[in-house]
Amino acid sequence: MTTAPLPIPTPPAAPTPAAAPRPAPAVLPSDPTAAVRPYQDYVYAYPHKTAYRPLPGRPALREIWRAEPKDALALYLHIPFCEVRCGFCNLFTRVGAPGDLTTRYLDALDRQAAAVRDALGDEQPVRFAAAAFGGGTPTFLEAAELERLCDIAEHRMGAPLGTVPLSVEASPATATADRLAVLAARGATRISLGVQSFAEDEARAAVRPQRRADVEAALGRIRATGVPVLNIDLIYGIDGQTPASWRASLDAALAWEPEELYLYPLYVRPLTGLSGRTAVDDPAWDAQRLALYRQGRDHLLERGYTQTSMRMFRRAGAAAQGPDDHACQTDGMIGLGCGARSYTAGLHYSFDYAVGMPQVRAIIDDYTATRDFSTARHGRRIDADEARRRHLLQSLLQAEGLATAEYRARFGTEPQADFPAALAAFAARGWLDEAAAPDRLRLGPEGLAHSDAVGPALFSAKVRADMAAYETR
Ligand code: SF4
Repeated sequence: MTTAPLPIPTPPAAPTPAAAPRPAPAVLPSDPTAAVRPYQDYVYAYPHKTAYRPLPGRPALREIWRAEPKDALALYLHIPFCEVRCGFCNLFTRVGAPGDLTTRYLDALDRQAAAVRDALGDEQPVRFAAAAFGGGTPTFLEAAELERLCDIAEHRMGAPLGTVPLSVEASPATATADRLAVLAARGATRISLGVQSFAEDEARAAVRPQRRADVEAALGRIRATGVPVLNIDLIYGIDGQTPASWRASLDAALAWEPEELYLYPLYVRPLTGLSGRTAVDDPAWDAQRLALYRQGRDHLLERGYTQTSMRMFRRAGAAAQGPDDHACQTDGMIGLGCGARSYTAGLHYSFDYAVGMPQVRAIIDDYTATRDFSTARHGRRIDADEARRRHLLQSLLQAEGLATAEYRARFGTEPQADFPAALAAFAARGWLDEAAAPDRLRLGPEGLAHSDAVGPALFSAKVRADMAAYETR
């Protein structure tokens, strides 16, 4: 999450529920008085990977990228290894890396980077404006392996680490001084630590047992690197969490004066460690999460943070990560690694996706054995309608909202004309900030609070159907 939340020590064995179809994201009822579940789907990317399918004919990357602008690309390297599987996590990752698996994974990453860089060509300028290492847990890699990861980004792909923002996810146990030193020396501008809760009983309840002292020590090591941006991830809605314990976790995080804080609602998803234990459709749980969200938001706003999205808060006056002129709505992204996605204007692609451990292991093994990375295997074509939806979604879910002039310049139409029913439904519920119109289409405080209902309401019928048809595995 922050991308992604992150792990630590040995959790109890998680139950292995039977495969189940993913519930279809709900459409927002047109009756504004009808109840809406506030926590339907965290839309951090659209379309979701469960709407990807095998791509017929496996298109060549060279063709996919031929006509794409390449002067402000983002680079994302995915490390699918964690020490433990957190109970709430459905990200593509496995526990541990037996034998020489990390070496074989980095070997494959290097081969993939070479193939992708070759496919980008040199006919037009290729420039990376931002980079990130995510997972999984990138700091699961040892110091020498992290050096190699940086070399792949810098020398194989040409991303000028040290002059562009570089964000790295870490967990308390793996954020060791030697690994952090490598990342700082290679130009990391942001370290994101998945803490989730400073209360040990809550961490255990989320199937992420950790000692408070270890978390504090990791935060101290990160601060000692001088990396300008520290992000801390916290989760609300954990069994046993109370307003007082939530406040205590918030204050424990604030004691480190993090430049960024991400507050995530707890989700329970199929095939994850919590899925056999916690009721998903419980209105009382929805109410608890909404109340804790509002408490957390108000507390951070009082402490001088500004809200960037439902989840993200940024400390006023915090150091910037550095120049970042990558625009996620429009610029391309190169993802390397078997859980990473790549985005062009007309195609999103990745490798196969799974949550269950045997399938994740098989996909990683297949990736490490791959010699030919010159084609795209799984993905989804993005037509003009989906491009509009994605632009609207990714803008509207940010606190600053959508600049209507930019939308008009890109698509030649008005968002209100393209999405009349959804936008009318948001307005009827009081979720839009009417004062921002006509220059901006922006969610108000209650709209932001309901971001995880707003996002799914903008999914196309086709994406919705494909997500529902995806068999979770
Ligand atoms: S299992 Fe790994 S990727 Fe998932 S939340 Fe935990 S640390 Fe992050």
